[in-house]
Amino acid sequence: MIPYGKQDINQQDIDSVISVLQSDWLTQGPQVPLFEQALSEKCQADYAIAVNSATSALHIANLALGVGKGDIVWTSPITFIATANSALYCGAKVDFVDIDLCSGNMSVDALKIKLQWAKKHNCLPKVVIPVHLAGQSCDMESIQMLAKEYDFSLIEDASHAVGGKYQHFPIGCCQYSDITVFSFHPVKIITSAEGGMALTNNKMLAKSMRALRSHGVTANPEEMTEPSHGPWYYQQLLLGFNYRMNDIQAALGVSQLSRIDEFVKQRNQLATRYNLAFANTNITLLTPSTDKLSAYHLYLILLPEANAIKHKQAIVNLRAHGICAHVHYIPVHLQPYYQQIGFKTGDFPNAEQYYQRVISLPLYPNLTRSEQQHIIEQVKLLV
Ligand SMILES: *Cc1c(COP(=O)(O)O)cnc(C)c1O
Repeated sequence: MIPYGKQDINQQDIDSVISVLQSDWLTQGPQVPLFEQALSEKCQADYAIAVNSATSALHIANLALGVGKGDIVWTSPITFIATANSALYCGAKVDFVDIDLCSGNMSVDALKIKLQWAKKHNCLPKVVIPVHLAGQSCDMESIQMLAKEYDFSLIEDASHAVGGKYQHFPIGCCQYSDITVFSFHPVKIITSAEGGMALTNNKMLAKSMRALRSHGVTANPEEMTEPSHGPWYYQQLLLGFNYRMNDIQAALGVSQLSRIDEFVKQRNQLATRYNLAFANTNITLLTPSTDKLSAYHLYLILLPEANAIKHKQAIVNLRAHGICAHVHYIPVHLQPYYQQIGFKTGDFPNAEQYYQRVISLPLYPNLTRSEQQHIIEQVKLLV
């Protein structure tokens, strides 16, 4: 079966991991700061905080921005559940903004209308989390203008988008947001097996996220509320977690990061081949925008009509031909857990239409030309 996504591990990656295993530090050693520094330089952000997953990064990003009970966080219904769950972890309420069917990203128009409505009803969000679906950035400049007008903070869920660009700046530079979050799960652009990173240009947010990832503890006498008891002393200042990335993961991350431009280039080349192959069919492609370089975590197509039965049949057919076609994503508000907290079918019509049309086709650096040709032929037979 051709998977929809897959890591690319080379000898340098393997050697990096082995050298950590032979060193004195399996965790809390030099590799994590190295990975943080390398990624913050690559993304042109002042601070980077490595954690054990993007889910953890989203959680501490929300907390650092002060999200708690009584607050509201908005995101896209077309995302992995972790984006929305991260706000629930903080005791906040979650709501969604419908998508734009051309890009699959949060619709700026829908956001604008919902903000006007929320202002009247006194339920404006404290934080909005746009998700760069498939690796293509949301329209962050317009979204930030709304953030200023309506006074909310922005977390970019860029789990799909590390290595991509928006307006010629690297995604992660936080030009238009408070915090950007990346994931290094093996299906993503680069991997640390499990892992995530939060980037920011705000010193206080960085300090707060650093404390939250490791029990809320400090060993820095300047941050302590009373004189140190001695050289063994550490102090807990707030309720944090153990969300640390270890040195084995970070070493893999550093090594993978050295090849990120190559990965993004290969993904773009494969995507271009798909685009050309489907250009004169009635398949809808998500429109690439000229001021963005997509990292192409996913290659998404939309079938011509929203028909749940035909959609399912198409995916079953592809799988029967050795192609692990997938769906990204089931709209979060349709999950039983979210239905239980009050969301209904019909709440976000574009997201629901998208769900009955979208197929993720295999896309990863080592996908061969002949595999891709096989996928293209099978997809063309569907429409
Ligand atoms: C993968 C992913 C996450 C979660 O990442 P983990 O590192 O697995 O916690 C969150 N949001 C989006 C959009 C993702 O694709």
